Amino acid sequence: MSAPANAVAADNATAIALKYNQDATKSERVAAARPGLPPEEQHCADCQFMQADAAGATDEWKGCQLFPGKLINVNGWCASWTLKAG
Ligand code: SF4
Repeated sequence: MSAPANAVAADNATAIALKYNQDATKSERVAAARPGLPPEEQHCADCQFMQADAAGATDEWKGCQLFPGKLINVNGWCASWTLKAG
């Protein structure tokens, strides 16, 4: 499926700063792994900053508190990944 128009772009300044990649397997999550889960299990879908009910969200694309008005991929990852409570 192609990315929606408001998906976070690779050249987005915040994305660059946070090392976001819409494909976690191509991100730096192993080298920059966060506590909470093994690196290979860290992705946007289990991050506390993901907003499942953001405007325009689909099964694959959701909101993120760190990217207002944009959509991130549930299979993405960034250096602010934090395990979702519960
Ligand atoms: S903060 Fe969480 S949901 Fe947002 S881009 Fe980073 S890993 Fe994904």
